[in-house]
Amino acid sequence: MIQIGSVLMDIELEEDKLVTYEGCPENCQICLDSCPQKALDGITVNQELCRTLSNFKTGKGYILKKCNLCRRLCPNCLGILPGPETS
Ligand code: SF4
Ligand code: SF4
Repeated sequence: MIQIGSVLMDIELEEDKLVTYEGCPENCQICLDSCPQKALDGITVNQELCRTLSNFKTGKGYILKKCNLCRRLCPNCLGILPGPETS
């Protein structure tokens, strides 16, 4: 669910608190079970298996995503709502 990017700045920012909560509900493995490529093992994603299905190159050379099943079905796909454990 994380897309890593970066912004270069010349100001000091206060860091967020370290995450101490579990992001996934106990025993959830919807993403693992839904992946048609069996690319997820609960620890990492096998990029070779995933990209075969998820990346699609258009005629103009743009790379689009054509599979996002694991993310679409994730109960946290829109973020984890703040609660006692997450605030
Ligand atoms: S994007 Fe598709 S192929 Fe890649 S891990 Fe998710 S469900 Fe599997
Ligand atoms: S579907 Fe979402 S909440 Fe469930 S195990 Fe996968 S990443 Fe975690």
